[in-house]
Amino acid sequence: MLNRRNFLKTGLMTGAAVIPTSVGLDALDPVSTLSAEGNVAPSSSVSKPKLIPLPPRLASIDQRTQSWQQKIRRVGQTNMTEHDPAVMNIEEWADYWHNAEADIVFISVTGILAFYPSKVQFHRHGKFLQGRDFFGECVAAAKKRNMRVVGRMSPDLNWGDALEAHPEWAMRHLDGSVQFSEEEPRLFKTCMFSTYMDDYVPAIMREVNSLYDVDCFYTNGWPPIGSLPNCHCAICSKLPTAGTPAYWRVFNDRVFDLWQKYDAIAKEKKPDSFFFANLGGNVRGGPNLDRLGKIAAWFQADNQGRTYDDPAVWGCTLQSRVCNAVLDGKFAANVTAAYSTGAVTWRNASKNPAEANMWLNETLAGGMVPYYHFVGAENGFGEDRRWQKVGTDYFRWTAQHDAHLATRRSIANVGVVMGQSTQLLYPGPTTMRSRAYMHETTQGIYDALLRGRFAFDFVHEDRLEPEHLSRYRALLLPNIAMLSDRQCQQIRDYVGSGGSIMASFETALYDENLNQRAGFGLADLLGINKAGDVIGTTGNAYYARIESQHPILDGFSNTNWLPGAQNRIPLKPLQNPVLTVVPGFVRYPPELAYPPAPHTDEPAVVLRELGYSRTAYFPGDIERSYWLTGHGDLLRLLHNTIRWIMHDEFIVHVQGEGFVEMLSWETTPGYSIHLLNYTNPNTHHGWLQATYPLGPQTIRMKLPPGVSVKSVELLRAGQSVPFALKKQMLQLTIPRIEDYEVAAITVS
Ligand SMILES: [Zn+2]
Repeated sequence: MLNRRNFLKTGLMTGAAVIPTSVGLDALDPVSTLSAEGNVAPSSSVSKPKLIPLPPRLASIDQRTQSWQQKIRRVGQTNMTEHDPAVMNIEEWADYWHNAEADIVFISVTGILAFYPSKVQFHRHGKFLQGRDFFGECVAAAKKRNMRVVGRMSPDLNWGDALEAHPEWAMRHLDGSVQFSEEEPRLFKTCMFSTYMDDYVPAIMREVNSLYDVDCFYTNGWPPIGSLPNCHCAICSKLPTAGTPAYWRVFNDRVFDLWQKYDAIAKEKKPDSFFFANLGGNVRGGPNLDRLGKIAAWFQADNQGRTYDDPAVWGCTLQSRVCNAVLDGKFAANVTAAYSTGAVTWRNASKNPAEANMWLNETLAGGMVPYYHFVGAENGFGEDRRWQKVGTDYFRWTAQHDAHLATRRSIANVGVVMGQSTQLLYPGPTTMRSRAYMHETTQGIYDALLRGRFAFDFVHEDRLEPEHLSRYRALLLPNIAMLSDRQCQQIRDYVGSGGSIMASFETALYDENLNQRAGFGLADLLGINKAGDVIGTTGNAYYARIESQHPILDGFSNTNWLPGAQNRIPLKPLQNPVLTVVPGFVRYPPELAYPPAPHTDEPAVVLRELGYSRTAYFPGDIERSYWLTGHGDLLRLLHNTIRWIMHDEFIVHVQGEGFVEMLSWETTPGYSIHLLNYTNPNTHHGWLQATYPLGPQTIRMKLPPGVSVKSVELLRAGQSVPFALKKQMLQLTIPRIEDYEVAAITVS
């Protein structure tokens, strides 16, 4: 990993960028929105991106030092139902995954229903098991075909006889009553703080280990993803209040302890076995992902498709950036449901092939391993078999390109701080108390970064040390409300050593315990002073008045006002503001829709230059307001500001039409640039039904000294393309993209 000194040597953090002074250009017009650098013509029309060289390449990997799971490239699962022992054709099942070149399959042990003749008390045999060893037969069929096996467990629910014998195992409501499954009231919810997790689950693991040759163990349904438990059993009643920072710490300790305990049990039989569990809650993942990332051998991103809460198409790549923030290159797999996920679910019906394909594309583009999943095997191997060809075709295509699709490290030069505690625990400003608040904030910055075609990573809030930050030219803090004093100091150190930051709204206004500070934790760094509490919008939102010219205003002309945001924190006046606040006023009646005070000295943005570092702070929730409105002015302002703090330094530049997500990697053969085509009427809602191909995309990047290019291959199109390499500047053009393309660059 590069440290800052290396970066300084290689010139990544140095050099004089030419920042043009503001030029009055035409306002956004429909032609320029589709023709310039990114998806909306940003300041690129006036300032040219400056390509900086890629860091020196990593040393080659000694295959012998890699764990077996790091060599896994395809994962398959037919999620077994109680009825499957009566109807599933095991040979057909095993042949399907083998023909799809799956390296490993999930087979159900469970914990709710035993798929083998378990002797563990309360491990109820499925009613169609009839004494048969269904699990054992499946394991044998998989092993015969050289596929590895994950023993899949479910510790989250159990039956009435267990409840009668162990009432302490149940999660309880506030009134003491048992929490039952909402769909199947015969099943009670088990409490993760109870002995169910200490005794029952280990007993099953040890039994399976004694009987079968499984390669690792996995639990579905625990730990919770995306939310925290709310239990009032005798144990939990003594814990801190659910949903608070103090509770989160206790919750994390328990998850961490159980995870290590289960991992040790898995290793009792084979030292290279391990335990893993679902972790895919995106930026809102339940357990602390930094802590678990350090011990997890397999990051299981249970992020199977778009949901009502997350309707944007990029849910899977967003998940990948979360994985990459905590894994240091370790193994991650993301599940693609071949069945119908969403607000209305059909567990046993195939989903649109275009949608399933895009989720698999995103998995690969994000550096994760594709994992394809269907539920049940009625009538031999499924009543609805349409999903099968989709999976086989996709998996077989990937198998031809494993070397290029396995990633080593992201080459992004923008870091976006992923405040997991803010995502989970911060309630939003007083006017808007809802956990949707941070979701909208995240989607806003994500959408803006995609449209600007920035190469960016997520950075976990607990990984702000120089070894994690030095690779980034700029760090973005989109309303990262909760930051400890230590984290604030780490950000100060980052800026002190040459980095730039952009922050917004309540960033660092709260400490790690959600206690509000008197002022911002980064007030000194950002040069800001709070003048009051959050001001929301009643009627007409506030505006930002242009006071002076600045590169962040490139492209705006013929207006004195820009839209502000929905909510803002008032700041004390500063010298020479670039934008000042025009406070919100009446929306209706229009007779009163004018500002009572046409001019104020309240800053609407604060910009600073500290040596080569630049800082930018927006007192409004600008990313979220952009997400809610799609206003092009907010997008332009975000793009201009990010480019200004970065001195316009790009590490990869992709020029062409359309709405595209770009991910860029160093690989063992060279580099891979992944482009996902989101130019589609269903990008923000509903599933993809078709693809809308894009024309030429030109990629430019500057290779490290001494690295030359042997070939550039387009993996989806299955063809080589010409390239030019001059003074280490590589340029190539992808002539056409269907839904996805990978430019695989082989170097020498
Ligand atoms: Zn409990």
